[in-house]
This record gives sequence, C-alpha cells and structure tokens, in this order.
Amino acid sequence: MEKYDLIHGQLHLEGFSQDAEWNCPSPLDPNQILACHTSEYWNKIRSGSWSRAEERKSGFTWSRALVLRESIIMSGTLGCALEAARGGIGLNIAGGTHHAFSDRAEGFCLLNDFVISAKHLLNNTEINRILIVDLDVHQGNGTAAMTQTDDRVFTFSMHAETNYPFHKESSTLDIPLPDRTTDTEYLKRLEMHLHEIFSRFAPQVVFYQCGVDVLSSDKLGKLSLTMRGSKERDRMVLETCRKHNIGVACAMGGGYSEDVSVIVEAHMQTFRLARDLWC
Ligand SMILES: [Zn+2]
Repeated sequence: MEKYDLIHGQLHLEGFSQDAEWNCPSPLDPNQILACHTSEYWNKIRSGSWSRAEERKSGFTWSRALVLRESIIMSGTLGCALEAARGGIGLNIAGGTHHAFSDRAEGFCLLNDFVISAKHLLNNTEINRILIVDLDVHQGNGTAAMTQTDDRVFTFSMHAETNYPFHKESSTLDIPLPDRTTDTEYLKRLEMHLHEIFSRFAPQVVFYQCGVDVLSSDKLGKLSLTMRGSKERDRMVLETCRKHNIGVACAMGGGYSEDVSVIVEAHMQTFRLARDLWC
C-alpha cells in the first residue's frame, strides 16, 4: 500500500532515522507463528492452498511475496514488543493485524501480530500482564478470540458498533460507539476506561493498535474524529503509559481516507508524540 512507503519517507524527512533506532526486520521464525496459529492454517498460507472463499475472506490475492511480507510485519511488531518490555516504545510502520484468527484470515489480516508478540513476551520474559488497546475503528475480533482464555492479556477494543466485523468476539472490555461519534464524546470515554483499566489490571506492557480509520474522512470508518481528535487520542494513550512508566508497542492498523496525505499525517502524529514523550 502506498501509505507505508509515504510514512517511511516522511519519517526520514523528519529526522526519525537519526533520533531513533531504525530496524528492518527479517521474517519471523515459523515456530513463533505456530505458537499461535494452527499448523494446518500455516501450511495452507505458505503453500497458497486455500479455497477461493478463504482467499476472498482474507481480502488478499495469494503470492509468495505476500507471505514473506506478513512474516516480516510479524517480526517488526515483535521487535517493538521487546522494546516495550524494556520500558521503551517501538512503532511498526505496518501491522495491527487484529482480524487474523488462529485458523483463518479475515479483513486483510493473515497472521495476528499482537497475539504472536504477546505469546513471546509471556513465554520468554518476566512480563505477565499485557494490555492491548485497540482503537482502530473496527473491532479487534481475531485478537479477542485468540486471547480469550488467557487472563494475562487484557483486550480493550473501542470501535464503531455498526461497522465490520458484523459478528463481534468478546474482548475483555468492548466499547461499541454509535455512528458519527465526535472527538469530545470519544475522548471522554477513552479517558475514563483507560483510567479504570490501569487501576484494575496494572499492565506491565501496552500494545497499541492506533488505526486512523477513526477519522471522519475515512471511507471505511463510521466515526467522526478530526485530525486533532485523533492526535489527542494518541496523546491520551501514550501519556498514560509514560506516566505509569510502561513501555508501548504500536502497530499502525487501518486508515482509508480518500486523500493519502491525510492518512500519512494522522499516522505521523503518533510517531511525533512517541518521539516527544520517549526520546
Ligand atoms: Zn480498521
């Protein structure tokens, strides 16, 4: 997608490659994928031997390059999660593949980067309380389903109620919002729930799916956030983490405004806030 190249270019232009460590990840070790996805599904993806219906549901046309790209995205988010576990912040230019289930792809998500990364931290570090804040306009159905039985992972999804996915899974906390919710109402609810979750769950690490399809200009979103509202949303999440001395792994998620420069600017706001708060 064009937006990823543009974000990459803009980050260089704004000096992020000097201010922050810059990683180009290698594909993820398949064993880490298999810790979260079924072997039957992974074999199907690798070989492209899925049915037309499965392919249609994924939103992708299969190719070897697609599988490689997805594996690299998984690795990128894992790198961010490891940085977060050290109290820092890591941002993946892509990722946030929250519609992927253990055994199927949906909505442009083949593999679930947050679940893979969470599993890795839980198995290999001292971390045992991970909060996933999913503020993409679409519910994080795959993430919710894949972590439902693990109380070390708290999933918080705030999304447009009438939007895709039409069958929603149960997150630890779901906040469905009415169509055309505006900045004021959105930010009021976010602040309240973040505060509640931090006191109740006391996360050690936060994964933040910061999709910008919450903007009123988005073709697939149904909410009415302004550019400024989207920035305040990011600030609220990142400042709360910083205040509690908690590291964050961010993945970009969705963004489908007609004008690609709007999408890039909205994502850049997240990067700039991260730099202001952590660098
Ligand atoms: Zn989305």
